Amino acid sequence: MSQKPYRILLYYMYVPIEDPEEFANEHNVFCKELGLKGRILVANEGINGTVSGPVEQTERYMEVMKQDPRFAEMVFKIDEADGHAFPKMKVRARPELVTLRLEDDVNPNELTGKYLEPKEFFERLQDEDTIVLDARNDYEYDLGHFRGAIRPDIKNFRDLPDWVRENKELLGDKKIITYCTGGIRCEKFSGWLVKEGFEDVAQLHGGIVTYGKDPEVKGELWDGQLYVFDDRIGVPVNQKEHVIVGKDYFTGEPCERYVNCANPACNKKILCSEENEHKYMRSCSDECRTHPRNRYVAEHGLPEAEVEERLEKVRA
Ligand SMILES: [Zn+2]
Repeated sequence: MSQKPYRILLYYMYVPIEDPEEFANEHNVFCKELGLKGRILVANEGINGTVSGPVEQTERYMEVMKQDPRFAEMVFKIDEADGHAFPKMKVRARPELVTLRLEDDVNPNELTGKYLEPKEFFERLQDEDTIVLDARNDYEYDLGHFRGAIRPDIKNFRDLPDWVRENKELLGDKKIITYCTGGIRCEKFSGWLVKEGFEDVAQLHGGIVTYGKDPEVKGELWDGQLYVFDDRIGVPVNQKEHVIVGKDYFTGEPCERYVNCANPACNKKILCSEENEHKYMRSCSDECRTHPRNRYVAEHGLPEAEVEERLEKVRA
């Protein structure tokens, strides 16, 4: 099998970084010189990045990173690609790697849930006394998730602790396993769950990405696609079967195609077919369809009469 010319790297590490601002500036220059594109967050608590680039440059990047004793143990998850997955390179200093804004922060190096390797996670998925809790946002869950997982009704990770407090009855006193894309969110979230008093908390080590690549489990018991925060939007996980769980926002038909609502003030992620994108002018509601700055109307240069005609059709 021939290798694709590009790669996408996904990685993180919770490790003290003294001056995130300075580190970010220098790292930005380094990444740009290498010809990488992507998004990297740097904080006092560590680094979280995803970058794309030609194979050789990504190889060089990993080599240089591992020479830094702080990142010597960093695990890079590697996807092959045909080209870049980001429009540009951005390295930013932030107060947190994942925005949880806990009043009392959790250091995953001191407190976190038990790590489960893919095979162990696969077995726990089938254990009746275990609750599977998705630690991601609702739109990520809607494109794909582990079979039987609980879907927290949240748009932002920082809302997850409140959601858990309000929905404690769903978790009962069962064992909890939790998962996210690459594992970074669960490091904190599972630690928070332990702190919150949940007794048996475990997390999928390396996240869904690692689970999908595992030679033994091959992504089994995952349905749909994995939502990713780059140009690909969705990637496959389950190598054995593909069950579509995404539903067209307008018709409920199976669908794995995300678009953003054309009302710039809304921008909601909606799953919809190409046909329905045009029919509903890529807008999630009547209010959004008639918004004066509707992007769909502008992009397609729709005359007013045409807009009226389409509105009538979908209102009927
Ligand atoms: Zn909308």
